[in-house]
Amino acid sequence: ATPMSVMVGVGKAAESGVLIRNGEALQTASQLTTMVLDKTGTITEGKPQVTDLKLLGDLDESQVLTLLASVESGSEHPIAEAILSAAQEKELSLSPVDQFDSIDGHGVSAKSVGKHILIGNDKLMNRFSIEYEAHAIATKEIAQQAKTPIFVAIDGKLEALIAISDPVKADSLSAIQRLKTSGLRVIMITGDNQHTAQAIASQVGIDEVFAEVLPEGKAHEVQKLQQAFEVVGMTGDGINDAPALAQADVGFAIGTGTDIAIESADIALMQGSLHGLADAINISKATLKNIK
Ligand code: ADP
Ligand code: MG
Repeated sequence: ATPMSVMVGVGKAAESGVLIRNGEALQTASQLTTMVLDKTGTITEGKPQVTDLKLLGDLDESQVLTLLASVESGSEHPIAEAILSAAQEKELSLSPVDQFDSIDGHGVSAKSVGKHILIGNDKLMNRFSIEYEAHAIATKEIAQQAKTPIFVAIDGKLEALIAISDPVKADSLSAIQRLKTSGLRVIMITGDNQHTAQAIASQVGIDEVFAEVLPEGKAHEVQKLQQAFEVVGMTGDGINDAPALAQADVGFAIGTGTDIAIESADIALMQGSLHGLADAINISKATLKNIK
């Protein structure tokens, strides 16, 4: 396309809240064959909440929540925010924490009031040899309700099972429908539980899911698609999406996401809605048509 038609396209996109940071991306957008979408904060609202807390040990709910929130105050994960606000609602005060350790894609480990506390998924429990098989069915039930199951272990024993819910954005289904109608292959990618991811995907009409992907793995999945001759768009909002956004042929960032994601992307969706994707692709097509 001519510089002039690209400028027109960039201006048009800006009117619908689509910020094009790289003129070349505007031209590539019409050639995409696959769109990879991050789950949390991209397809979903990204403001998770604790909906259930099942006690499995001797501690009561306030005691467990106090320990949970104390440890999670060291984490920036959306799950940590959900736990902290649950504790805040009950006006619990936090205990001091030491030896805090955040384990990518697994959860957190720390000490507080002389106890060793683990909070995270089944991978974290496996890593510390915590028995959770007796609760495998309850865990799967939580996941099938599109909620994330999180285990809490204290001093080597399972102490609680919690469910975290992060609803999908009201317009994700219709936006994804537009992408599919335009012929794109749409894939959800997430570090979350396989069953949770499947349940969310079915709510928004996605049938290809890459779940339980470690943070470094997202860029690798994009690269594998490219090696299979797909022209790949990636959409995300988080720090751990940044390498995948950079790897993709066109990276799209949710404008309300983290700065690192926006800086790594070619196009930012300032309204936070996935409808910006189909809008950008339409503008890309119109831009290319103008010069032919
Ligand atoms: P995502 O961004 O898709 O949630 P992550 O790699 O950040 O992917 O996290 C993957 C999983 O690791 C989460 O679904 C959760 O089970 C666990 N996890 C990560 N951080 C925490 C945390 N701070 N507290 C509890 N669980 C966590
Ligand atoms: Mg995200």
